[in-house]
Amino acid sequence: MIEYRNLRIALLGAGSVGAQVADQILNHGDELAARIGAGIELIGVAVRDPKSQRAVDIPAHLITTDAAALVRQADIVIELMGGVEPARTLILDAINAGADIVTANKALLAHHSTEIFEAASQVGAQVYYEAAVAGAIPIIRPLRDSLAGDRVTRILGIVNGTTNFILDRIDTLGESMEDSLAMAKKLGYAEEDSSADVEGYDAAQKASILASLAFHTHVPIDLVYREGITEITRDQVSAARQAGYVVKLLAICERVVSADGTEGVSARVYPAMVPDTHPLAAVHGANNAVFVEAELAGPLMFYGAGAGGVQTSSAVLGDLVSAARRHVIGGPGVAESTHATFPIVPISGIRTRYHISLEITDAPGVLADIASLFATHGVSVESVEQKVTSVDGQAATATLVIGTHEAIEADLAATVDALEASAVVQRVVGVIRMEGL
Ligand code: NAP
Repeated sequence: MIEYRNLRIALLGAGSVGAQVADQILNHGDELAARIGAGIELIGVAVRDPKSQRAVDIPAHLITTDAAALVRQADIVIELMGGVEPARTLILDAINAGADIVTANKALLAHHSTEIFEAASQVGAQVYYEAAVAGAIPIIRPLRDSLAGDRVTRILGIVNGTTNFILDRIDTLGESMEDSLAMAKKLGYAEEDSSADVEGYDAAQKASILASLAFHTHVPIDLVYREGITEITRDQVSAARQAGYVVKLLAICERVVSADGTEGVSARVYPAMVPDTHPLAAVHGANNAVFVEAELAGPLMFYGAGAGGVQTSSAVLGDLVSAARRHVIGGPGVAESTHATFPIVPISGIRTRYHISLEITDAPGVLADIASLFATHGVSVESVEQKVTSVDGQAATATLVIGTHEAIEADLAATVDALEASAVVQRVVGVIRMEGL
């Protein structure tokens, strides 16, 4: 057997995830080495503040604040600092110095993947990022390798644990949005500034990564349509439940064919009603799940812990073993596949179904007026449910809940504009898309 020198591992960051990764390398290095076929050595751990309390014991001689010097001495750099800079510069420097990269940094990849993958491709290095989407759940490697011979048609992902935790409490406990957000903060699922989660930015970054991988097409983050959950009300969630649906914040990546037959891809994030029989409806608490539909494989579901330092370290260590094995075997890394270059379809061009709640004046002929507004804009109505909600003298107000057949978003938007302008509609209470049907 060829004796291989120890592979030098540099770790950037020793926070929630980094500390757990350091612990595993330091205490289970032999087991990892046996799986790799070569020894590994943690040569340093870069942090911001060497005096910070760590979740695990890391020998003081390994701790450094000179990340730039550390990355130049490594065979494999594990970046777990988060944020764009200095992570971006350090990764590019490490690649140019001959290292392979393992990162969990979705923000960096969503904004700079092209630059990083091109730099890696130039020198034959490899970038691994299993932990960047859905924490511990294997989803990057299944898309990149296991499904590489298939054609993925759609991905519906619950990829943000915080928003799933919040929506799940509203649904199952009848809590308000404010109370469940406060509980998410109390339990450490949400940061004090929760905007990255509740406004859908975090999920959009993951949608960009998943869509790029699944469709062999670079899908830039600024072309991912995004809506968060802040407009969702307890009433909407409970009305959805009564109708047999659950509201989930979804990252949706889809191959779409436009009206003129052009093939494209769509990546979008919004809260949507999912049938309560769909596998995603059973994803509770802060868990994540990614539902993949592929032409040959059919539907596949990947489910588990989307975050947590210990859980996420599993994905990082899997990448470390892959990166190390490649070093042992030799040969250049495999470049990211972006050969398909599908156009990105804007939100106005997507087709889905909608659930619209209206407050209307309950009078003869009103339903016909409303139905004609839908017909005028080419949106076909699938179901109508009417409830009289209040009677004031002679005038009655009714709530109308309308489900549509599949319609083009632009047509639906024009219908909603017409409803808002109509004399018989008092208020458009809410519009929510329906997915997974
Ligand atoms: P974290 O707890 O905030 O830890 C960040 C670590 O990086 C800290 O040790 C910090 O040093 C160090 N660091 C930050 N900026 C630095 C700088 N400029 N120079 C040197 N060191 C620096 O972060 P985390 O939760 O472990 O997340 C790490 C990455 O994993 C992020 O990209 C995140 O998106 C991703 N991720 C996290 C989870 C999760 O559950 N936490 C799940 C999936 C993916 P100090 O300790 O000295 O401050």
